[in-house]
Amino acid sequence: MPAKSPLPGDLEKIETASRDEISALQLERLKWSVRHAYDNVPHYKKSFDAAGVHPDDLKTLADLAKFPFTTKSDLRDNYPFGLFAVPRSKVARVHASSGTTGKPIVVGYTLKDIDTWSHLVARSIRAAGGRAGDTCHIAYGYGLFTGGLGAHYGAERLGCMVVPMSGGQTEKQVQLILDFQPQIIMVTPSYSLVIAEEFERQGVSPEDISLKIGIFGAEPWGEGMRGEIEKKLGLDAVDIYGLTEVMGPGVASECIESKDGPVIWEDHFYPEIINPDTGEVVADGEHGELVFTSLSKEAAPVIRYRTRDLTRLLPPTSRSFRRMDRITGRSDDMLIVRGVNVFPTQIEEQILRDKRLAGNYQIVLTREGHLDNVEVRCELQREFSGQLSQTEVQVISKEMQHHIKTVIGITTRVSVMNYDTIPRTLTGKARRVIDERPRQN
Ligand code: ADP
Repeated sequence: MPAKSPLPGDLEKIETASRDEISALQLERLKWSVRHAYDNVPHYKKSFDAAGVHPDDLKTLADLAKFPFTTKSDLRDNYPFGLFAVPRSKVARVHASSGTTGKPIVVGYTLKDIDTWSHLVARSIRAAGGRAGDTCHIAYGYGLFTGGLGAHYGAERLGCMVVPMSGGQTEKQVQLILDFQPQIIMVTPSYSLVIAEEFERQGVSPEDISLKIGIFGAEPWGEGMRGEIEKKLGLDAVDIYGLTEVMGPGVASECIESKDGPVIWEDHFYPEIINPDTGEVVADGEHGELVFTSLSKEAAPVIRYRTRDLTRLLPPTSRSFRRMDRITGRSDDMLIVRGVNVFPTQIEEQILRDKRLAGNYQIVLTREGHLDNVEVRCELQREFSGQLSQTEVQVISKEMQHHIKTVIGITTRVSVMNYDTIPRTLTGKARRVIDERPRQN
């Protein structure tokens, strides 16, 4: 499918600006943001004072490295509204992230923040090839989760007709897509495969599905998954990144013409990559933990927020802003199996190299004595399910074990199951890892 390049008049000036222009804008906004946080949020005043830094110390972009980090526990400790920098009367909306553990974190938005967010999601959809007049089916969950409403406001802003379907009710998703013929879908990659399976079950082939563009995010996914989704839904799949603490979806988003990693909307979010152990800023191109400082947020500014997402910064290509590499995983998603560090997406890549296997998988960790055991559960594609002999299935399993051992370095047991055996997540993010190992104190 030919990728739609943006028309010259389509882009905002800043998207093609020079690095000097971008840096100048960033510095001006950064000075405002750091002062805004210091003057209006007691937590920031306290933490800057404790670190011996003051907003006046910020004279260049590099000076930001002198400021202390903000972590998820700072947001939890100030639950619910302690980090807001404006009075409650100015907060137009809140969202919350469940997180994987513990209390939720809450973020707020002024009307201007919602306006900026809508603008950036609209920019993201346009980067994906979407245009005013397109129909956009939104299957991210609506509610406290930022996915649904974030996508919704952006698609409306771009001038799309929005179908606010939310997650779940897979048969209805398919029916509405068939009836309304949307060009665009916004959904988590794992749930897009569930929708694709329902199309398959109903005998609708990819070329008969109206969708041309899929904008997928909210969870890690790799190139193998991109291929799988593109094939099954007959569309171009691009990656959108974001997180509640920083805004929601649309902090960065991929361009359809290059599909080379999400472009960070650097005019509103200043990225740094740090060594997660030492906290030192590392050079562009080096791997580490992504840290964001908001440049324009009013209600809930974040200064040097440690995302725990591991990636690296890449040079600009389709836009003047830098890109980020695919997220390998969150530092807290990393599995340590018999001393080897493993991310679920590495296992996903291996599974999807085998065309007979589908994209749904689970990793089950157990412990026998002092040793960790890893079982990788994967599924046959529908057309192979029930069609292969036991020996053929065993061969697939042995091959997979071998690939995982040689490429990733861990010994696993691979269970190849029939299609539709592994439970599907109908809303939100897939649960890839089931860790049954006893907790270590
Ligand atoms: P929660 O913390 O409850 O999962 P969020 O919805 O705020 O809530 O999740 C944001 C996180 O989701 C990011 O920090 C990142 O780990 C993950 N994420 C979001 N978009 C992507 C993406 N495109 N690729 C990989 N991971 C992503």
